[in-house]
Amino acid sequence: MKKCYLCKGDIEKELVMVEREWNGKKIIIEGVPAEVCKQCGEKYFDSETTLKLEKIKKASTYPQEQDISISVLVRRFDRLPKEQRVSG
Ligand SMILES: [Zn+2]
Repeated sequence: MKKCYLCKGDIEKELVMVEREWNGKKIIIEGVPAEVCKQCGEKYFDSETTLKLEKIKKASTYPQEQDISISVLVRRFDRLPKEQRVSG
């Protein structure tokens, strides 16, 4: 059995979701075969999968593509909101 390069944990084959960015858009590719470390979660892709991921990412149109909008809250770590004081 293969071991993780980072932590020497056990690796198992899994289908994962991969996030990529292209032309300022976030692209999520589902069902990607990967070898995933059970210990630290590091994902390993073979060269064929890596090539295919690049192709999918760069494709301008894609069959069965779904455009899903997700709203994201961005919060700065170094700025805490002022504590609200209860008056009266
Ligand atoms: Zn690991």
